[in-house]
Amino acid sequence: MHLSDEGIIFRQTKTGDGRRMILLFTKKYGKISVGAGAGERGKSRSSLALRPFTHGSYQIFQGRNYYNLDKAETIESYYSIGEDLDKYMYASYVLELTEKLIPEEVPQPGIFSLLIEFLAELSQRKKQYETLVLAYEVKVLRILGMFPELTACTSCGHKENLHHFSISSGGMVCDDCVKNQRDSLIYSAKFDIVGILNYFALNSLKSFRKIALDDAVAGQLQTIIRDYISYHLDIGGLKSESIFMNRF
Ligand SMILES: [Zn+2]
Repeated sequence: MHLSDEGIIFRQTKTGDGRRMILLFTKKYGKISVGAGAGERGKSRSSLALRPFTHGSYQIFQGRNYYNLDKAETIESYYSIGEDLDKYMYASYVLELTEKLIPEEVPQPGIFSLLIEFLAELSQRKKQYETLVLAYEVKVLRILGMFPELTACTSCGHKENLHHFSISSGGMVCDDCVKNQRDSLIYSAKFDIVGILNYFALNSLKSFRKIALDDAVAGQLQTIIRDYISYHLDIGGLKSESIFMNRF
C-alpha cells in the first residue's frame, strides 16, 4: 500500500547495510520508522527533505511490517534554524521531547500542527526563544491531557492561597497544606505560575511574538515543567536538555 503524508523528521540513523532508518512524525499516521535506501542521497530534492526541522511531503510504501520511503519533497525547510546555534539547540530539544512524548503509530494531529507552528515561529523570532519553548511544552501537556491542576489545591481542594506547585500531586498546593507536606518536589512560586500557565495554554504560539518572560522566571518555569514532565511521563533524560543545565 502506498501512503502519502506530510511529516517532520525526528531523526535518522544509519543501519549496518548502508541504509538509513528515518523516524518520521507524520500528520495522519503519527510517529513511524521508515527505511530509506542509500540511493536517495544522490537525488538532491529528496535529500533536502530529509534534513532535520524540515516539513516535507513523503510518499511511503507500507509493507506487511515495515515502511519504506519512495519519495520526499520539501514543503518548508526552516533553514534559518540551522544557522543559529541557540535556535538549533532549542529546536533539537523540542523535537527530542516531542519524539519521546508520543507513542508510535498513533495520530497526533494537534501536536503535529503545533510543532509546525513552533518551527515557523522559532525561525522568525529574534530573541528569547525559551518563552516559545515553554509555551510549546505547556500546550503539548494540554493536548496530551496532562495539564496540571491550577484551580484548586491538589491536597484539600480549596481555591484560595495557591502559591506552591507540587510536581508529584500534579498541581497547586495551598499555603495551609504546604506546611504539612514533606514532599521535596514542591516549588514555592515566586511569580504568577497559574496566570502564566493558563495564558500559555489558551493563546496561540503566534501571539507570543511580542511576549518574552523575564529570564529568571523562564528558568524557574522550565525547571518546574521539566520535573513535571519527567515525573508524570516516563521519558528519561534527553540528550538535548543540557541547554538548560548550566545557566545558573
Ligand atoms: Zn490545601
